[in-house]
Amino acid sequence: MAIPLPAGIVHRIGPQPMDLKSGYPYWAIKNGLLRAFPPLEQDLRCDVAIIGAGVTGALVAHDLVEHGHEVAVLDQRDVGWGSTCASTALLQYEIDTHMTDLAKAFGVANAALAYGSCVDAIDQIGDVARSLRDVEFQPMQSLYFASRPRHRKALERECQLRAQYGIDVTWLDAPSLLEFSGIHAPCAILSAKAARVDPYRLTYRLLGRLANQGAAIHDHTRVEALDVHPRHVELRTSNGAVIHCKHAVIAAGYESEGFLARPLAKNRSSYAFVTEPIPVEALGVLETTLVWESARPYIYLRTTGDHRLVAGGEDDDIDIPARRDARVAMKTGKLLRRLAALFPRLAPHLQPSFCWAGTFAETEDGLPYFGINSRYGKRVIFAMGYGGNGTVYSMLGAAIVRATIEAKPHPLAELFGFNR
Ligand SMILES: Cc1cc2nc3c(=O)[nH]c(=O)nc-3n(C[C@H](O)[C@H](O)[C@H](O)COP(=O)(O)OP(=O)(O)OC[C@H]3O[C@@H](n4cnc5c(N)ncnc54)[C@H](O)[C@@H]3O)c2cc1C
Repeated sequence: MAIPLPAGIVHRIGPQPMDLKSGYPYWAIKNGLLRAFPPLEQDLRCDVAIIGAGVTGALVAHDLVEHGHEVAVLDQRDVGWGSTCASTALLQYEIDTHMTDLAKAFGVANAALAYGSCVDAIDQIGDVARSLRDVEFQPMQSLYFASRPRHRKALERECQLRAQYGIDVTWLDAPSLLEFSGIHAPCAILSAKAARVDPYRLTYRLLGRLANQGAAIHDHTRVEALDVHPRHVELRTSNGAVIHCKHAVIAAGYESEGFLARPLAKNRSSYAFVTEPIPVEALGVLETTLVWESARPYIYLRTTGDHRLVAGGEDDDIDIPARRDARVAMKTGKLLRRLAALFPRLAPHLQPSFCWAGTFAETEDGLPYFGINSRYGKRVIFAMGYGGNGTVYSMLGAAIVRATIEAKPHPLAELFGFNR
């Protein structure tokens, strides 16, 4: 039965859920369905309704509950079954856009603020992870190597600027890079601050804890329309329930575009695989170091708690799920060849056990969008942690979302907002 919509500005959401991933994302296989959350079957009232139970929605919900807000989290899929389970979950302070380039676009103070905040966010994720235990959070270091000799100058400037603003970096020239990692490349920046996590488990455990504390967590509940009133928002779900809230947060991942009049980023695909466990002696420095490079698109890699290697990259412009599905095996082959060339000693161990791909989007300036959008007014807050370090952005974004709801200033609100 069709439900009559009350007066207010009604925004209908794009018709269908997107097909976000292909193949077998490792975290979902490793963990399975960790817990069942009930679909919402009756009307609900809360302070803040969060659309999206991925890592962003989970971190936003956690922060709000910690500060006394009553939240409900709604997801059309199972918890963590959007992009979150496809993430390779390298936690980096390093934004895809160099600090030097951000400084050119937004001034050096803003660039330092963005980079410095991302450094802090890794510790903040660590605090959340430690409070949950058992989500495979592990501090790492991060190696960013120059893919080509002509990238050297840019990396030198980058390293100097980061060091000038207090980021713990070490410059490695070609011989020291080779000695440190076995990589033959012109140079690299080695950063002391980085980490890895199991993003799917983090999301489940966080939302499970919130549910135990009384928060309403409902998956298999699709929000189809937002009805924005001056003092409240009503969300309408596909099975007819209405959520009456003071604020709504859109943490819908790359599907957030369906809530906007114009797309903010172009969807692409990124490809990844995980190996069988590899002897620690063969992994060497990779056991404790994330690796990525200056080419765009770049290869990225990390290890897991049981010593597997997770590698990703080979990004392309494919935004058609069937074409992305068809490319997973071919892209895995390319990633394997690149890895074997980078780390010849690892070649005998590079047997992929699972391969997958996922939709991925980056904004033009590499920064995320957290805050209000003029289309909806101040009661609807977007939480879009786009980019290669989306998880770190989501940690920072949680505090921006809360500040917006509490009508308080936040140092990153403008730089990460829609009017930057
Ligand atoms: C191959 C790959 C590798 C990556 N590697 C990294 C990495 O190393 N480090 C990193 O930080 N990031 C990485 N990312 C990016 C990372 O996956 C994302 O930044 C992150 O998962 C986004 O989380 P999210 O919660 O915003 O989105 P999602 O996990 O997609 O969650 C959004 C949720 O919203 C729900 N939803 C959408 N619309 C509605 C609606 N109308 N009603 C109800 N629910 C709705 C969806 O079902 C979904 O579960 C990678 C991504 C890919 C694809």
